[in-house]
Amino acid sequence: KLSQRLGLLLEQIPRGSKLADIGSDHALLPLAAVQTGRAASAVAGEVNPGPFRAAQKAVQDAGLTGRISVRRGDGLEVLRPEEADCITIAGMGGALIASILNRGSLEGKLGGVRTLLLQPNVGEDILRRWLLDNGWVLTAEALLEEDGKRYEVLTAVPEDKDTGVTNESLYADAAKAGGERPYRMDMLLNMGPWLIRQPNPVFFAKWQDEISKLERIRKSLSHSEQESAESKRSEIGEFIQEITEVLACLP
Ligand code: SAM
Repeated sequence: KLSQRLGLLLEQIPRGSKLADIGSDHALLPLAAVQTGRAASAVAGEVNPGPFRAAQKAVQDAGLTGRISVRRGDGLEVLRPEEADCITIAGMGGALIASILNRGSLEGKLGGVRTLLLQPNVGEDILRRWLLDNGWVLTAEALLEEDGKRYEVLTAVPEDKDTGVTNESLYADAAKAGGERPYRMDMLLNMGPWLIRQPNPVFFAKWQDEISKLERIRKSLSHSEQESAESKRSEIGEFIQEITEVLACLP
């Protein structure tokens, strides 16, 4: 059975997609996507030999070698131009996902892609920044907790000025939700322009934990005499303050 995390990604795949799942491990997502009709066909990309063989075997066992192509390679290099219209990258850090997208984008591998579905384990802000800087607009964000871990699922589409799907309007609307003190860009990239407007209990728990973690770091820095430690301490203090204010404003 698919985890709740992968189930959430699955639901976001537009029906009939030409899917590419990068870092596919056991190819669970492309298998479920093809079996449910979410994907018409799929590429499962893996850079490491163990997971690559596991993916090959899983696809063979399911009798789906005709519809799922398992390929060994780094990031989007496994794709031919225009081959996929939906790309999923899940279960890695946000910086790694951003670097895979960046390289792929420079190599023209994102032409024809209509949907990016990304599930960073950490470094969500880095990934949101990459999307913003590269003309991808978040259209949905989900945050869930499963087996004691929290996951974010980000959905992005290409910016389109004709239909008004732009980062400018996304972030302007999200900032306004702060009311008298509009949310700052930095906080929106950290917390998520959709999540901040639809906070669930997991969101509160996540940011409360983040505050506790930052408090511990701040405390450990107080033992240092160095000037750089002092400036780091006040930077962390400001960040804690800002998170606290955002949480206090939320319904
Ligand atoms: N996507 C699956 C999921 O969410 O359940 C598997 C996640 S697993 C933690 C991360 C996988 O990404 C590993 O199997 C790893 O080999 C693969 N990986 C890491 N860097 C990669 C890259 N640059 N290109 C392709 N695969 C990569």
